[in-house]
Amino acid sequence: MAEHVVIVGGGIAGTAAALALRTAGIAVTVLDARPADDDSGAVVRINPNGMDALRAVNAHQTILAGSFPLVRTERIGADGARVGYALAADPASDRGLPRVLHWSQLAARLRAVARDRGAVFRHGVRVCDVHESGGDASGGPVTAVLEGGQTVHGDVLVGADGVHSLVRRRIDAEAPAPQRLGTRTVYGFAADPPREPPPPEVLRSYLGPKAFLAATRDSLSGGCFWFTSLPAPEPASRGTGPRDVDGLRTELLPWFAEGTFAADLVRASERILSFDDHALDHLPRWSTGRTVLLGDALHVAPPASEQGAALAIEDGVELARCLRDHPVPAEAFAVFERLRRSRVEAVVARGRLGTSRAHHPLRRRLRALRDRGRRLLDWQRRPPTGGGWTYDHHIDWAARAGG
Ligand SMILES: Cc1cc2nc3c(=O)[nH]c(=O)nc-3n(C[C@H](O)[C@H](O)[C@H](O)COP(=O)(O)OP(=O)(O)OC[C@H]3O[C@@H](n4cnc5c(N)ncnc54)[C@H](O)[C@@H]3O)c2cc1C
Repeated sequence: MAEHVVIVGGGIAGTAAALALRTAGIAVTVLDARPADDDSGAVVRINPNGMDALRAVNAHQTILAGSFPLVRTERIGADGARVGYALAADPASDRGLPRVLHWSQLAARLRAVARDRGAVFRHGVRVCDVHESGGDASGGPVTAVLEGGQTVHGDVLVGADGVHSLVRRRIDAEAPAPQRLGTRTVYGFAADPPREPPPPEVLRSYLGPKAFLAATRDSLSGGCFWFTSLPAPEPASRGTGPRDVDGLRTELLPWFAEGTFAADLVRASERILSFDDHALDHLPRWSTGRTVLLGDALHVAPPASEQGAALAIEDGVELARCLRDHPVPAEAFAVFERLRRSRVEAVVARGRLGTSRAHHPLRRRLRALRDRGRRLLDWQRRPPTGGGWTYDHHIDWAARAGG
């Protein structure tokens, strides 16, 4: 069995993997470029399949304690009337509801559990190269080279270094790059939201003539999380902290009609963050003999899938199970790929479809017509349910990975 795993990237995938590897009794060092006290990010949603993966390694309690459940989604027309709603998850399922929390809280809470179980985190260190030395290096057969020249050795290396992964390029120089979708997702948070925020545990989409804004009230703090999706024909810079907020606010306000809740919420927000949307549907090569990818480095699900964080957690837990049960890393990676490939590719494809539907002008017009018809008929006796098959994934931690 691998004795020491080096993880490049301490986001959600890397941290979930560290936590699960420690649960399997494997030593872990996580190397992350961000500082330890980085509190960037905004709202993130852990769907029931992600919570199931955390439950498998007994790490769900901290997320349940620090998040709130999402019961319903609603769509509010420009005139303020409700034009549609859906249940966030099937009430008959035993998987529970999606959970919502601040991204930095999710990262910090998973990290705290991983540390308690013995994982080592090094923050503020950027990895500039990785290689496999064929087993003859003194410290172990895989090496991560840090900026400044220091090296970290292990016997397995995990690339959990996000959308623009360096490790992906080292595994396969010909690897396809994630494709920009021409849209971006902007996330925000207002600690003191304006009048009439959505009721707790409801995600409300306020539909405007140019864009929607979806908001939900944090029932723990009373603040309001929100996100919107906008066209992004050119690559946009990513908001990373307070210095970006005013510029992003100025860019955003023209998308929302003056005097609406959406415009007031953007104005009241102290945190705004913008990510260009990408998709990576199919990566031919997931691993080499001792190096493997996880999370956004491996498959980029567009935000419309709402599965980025949950898939990253599933990946981390499944990889730990594979390394626990298969002593030869290449065999463990082959089982990991067999367990994961069709699922992650199907989730990414579903998210892509959702993104193109949301932005297609004809689709938008048809949806507006459908909403008007539903309102006239006082519609929707049976509300649809979110998530579908994507929520049904289950990890049996006690079972041997791959049978
Ligand atoms: C700072 C931040 C804030 C985010 N906020 C949100 C949010 O509010 N809502 C949302 O839905 N999603 C957010 N995301 C994205 C979301 O976390 C991911 O899409 C998803 O959870 C998959 O996680 P991941 O761990 O694979 O990738 P990421 O979360 O992107 O993590 C990748 C990690 O790798 C590190 N890294 C990258 N390159 C190197 C390197 N060369 N050396 C060392 N470390 C490296 C990065 O610092 C980062 O911590 C955020 C991501 C980041 C990094």
